[in-house]
Amino acid sequence: MKDDILPLITAWDGEGIVVRHDAPTGTWIFIALHSSLLGCPTGGTRMKVYPGLRDALRDAMRLAEGMTHKWAGLNSELGGGKAVLALSRPLDAEARRGLMHRYGRLLESLNGAFCTGADLGTGPDDMRHVAEVSQFVLGVDQKTHASTDPGPFTARGVLAGIRSAVLHRFGKEGLDGVRILIQGLGGVGSPLAGMLAAEGAHLLLCDADSSRAQRMSQDLPNSHIVPIDRVYTEKCDVFCPCAVGGILNEDSITTMGCKIVAGSANNQLLEEDDADRLHKWGILYVPDYIVNAGGAMALTLMTQGISEREVLEQRVDRIGEAVANILEEAAASQTTPLSTARRRVDRLLSRSRSARNRSTQS
Ligand code: NAD
Repeated sequence: MKDDILPLITAWDGEGIVVRHDAPTGTWIFIALHSSLLGCPTGGTRMKVYPGLRDALRDAMRLAEGMTHKWAGLNSELGGGKAVLALSRPLDAEARRGLMHRYGRLLESLNGAFCTGADLGTGPDDMRHVAEVSQFVLGVDQKTHASTDPGPFTARGVLAGIRSAVLHRFGKEGLDGVRILIQGLGGVGSPLAGMLAAEGAHLLLCDADSSRAQRMSQDLPNSHIVPIDRVYTEKCDVFCPCAVGGILNEDSITTMGCKIVAGSANNQLLEEDDADRLHKWGILYVPDYIVNAGGAMALTLMTQGISEREVLEQRVDRIGEAVANILEEAAASQTTPLSTARRRVDRLLSRSRSARNRSTQS
C-alpha cells in the first residue's frame, strides 16, 4: 500500500494528508488538507468503495484542491480540504455509525485542522453521528443535533447563477419561457425545478430513475420529460447538470443542443481542456465550483452563528453577482469563464501567500 500511494503524496502541492485505517470496518480514511491560506480547510466527507487506494487518495486530493478554488472564488475565509472514507465493503447501519464515531474522534483529535459536512455517500444522519463526538461538523446543531439539508441552498445559488448567465448570453432579464434542462432530480435538482417553474421557465426533466422524472413532471406546470439518451442533444437554452461529474467531455460537447451550461454537479468537466471545447462550440460554461457553492456557504455561515433563513438566502443569492462578474471579465478578456475564475483564485491565493510570508518574516 505504502509504495502505491507515496508517489501521489510526493507529487501533491497540498499541505498534508491525514491517513487512518479503521480496523473494525477495514475502511481507509484520507483527509486531504490542500490549503489553509484563506482559513480552515473545509470540505465534505465522501464515502464509497473505490477500485483501489490510489483512486481514493487521488479523489481526496483532487476534491480538496477544488475546495480551495471554490472558497477563494467566492472570497470566503475558508481553506480547501476533503475527506474520503474508502470502504472495503458496504456497511450495515450499526457498523456505519461506529465508523462515523471513530471518524468524529479523529476530527476532534485534529482540533479544527479540518471541518466537514456531508458529500456523496454520506448524509445528514452520518453527520449527526459524527457530531455526537466532534464539534468540527457543518450543518448539525451542536445542542439539538438537528441537521440542515444543504440541497435547497445549493439550488438557490444555481438559480441565481442561471439568471446571470441568461442575462449575459441572451440579454434577457428573468427566466420566463427560458428552456432549461435539468439532469438529475435529487437533493438539488428537485428544489431547483420548483424554483425555476415558479419563475416561468419551460422545464425539461431527466433522471436515471424515470419514475422520479414522471412524478415531478406531473407536479410542475410547463414541464416535459427527456429520455436519458437524449439529454445532451436536446435543444434548450440552459443545460443544468445536477447528477454526476465528468459529463462534459470530447464526446458529449460536440453533440450538445444547449447555449449555456450551469448546474450543481461537481467536476462536470472531464478535463480542463473541455472548458475550451465548450467555448469553441459556442456554449457558455459557468464554472461548477462557483455556481454550486450555495449549500456549503449557508452551512458555513450557520456555524458562524448566522441562522436567519432570509439572511442566509441573501448571501447565497450573491453567487449571481459572482457569476455575472466572472462572465463579464471573461468576455472582456476573450477567455473562458473557467480561466477567469482560476485567475481570480490564483490572484487571491498569491496575495494571501505574500501576506503570510511577510508576517512570518517580521
Ligand atoms: P442526489 O444523489 O440527491 O441526486 C442525484 C440525482 O441524479 C438522483 O435523482 C439520481 O437518480 C440522478 N442521476 C444519477 N445519475 C444520473 C444520470 N446519469 N442521468 C440522470 N440522472 C442521474 O444528489 P444531489 O445532492 O442532488 O447532488 C447532485 C450533484 O450536485 C452531485 O454531483 C453533487 O456532488 C453536487 N452537489 C451537491 C450539493 C448539495 O448541496 N447537495 C452541493 C454541491 C454540489
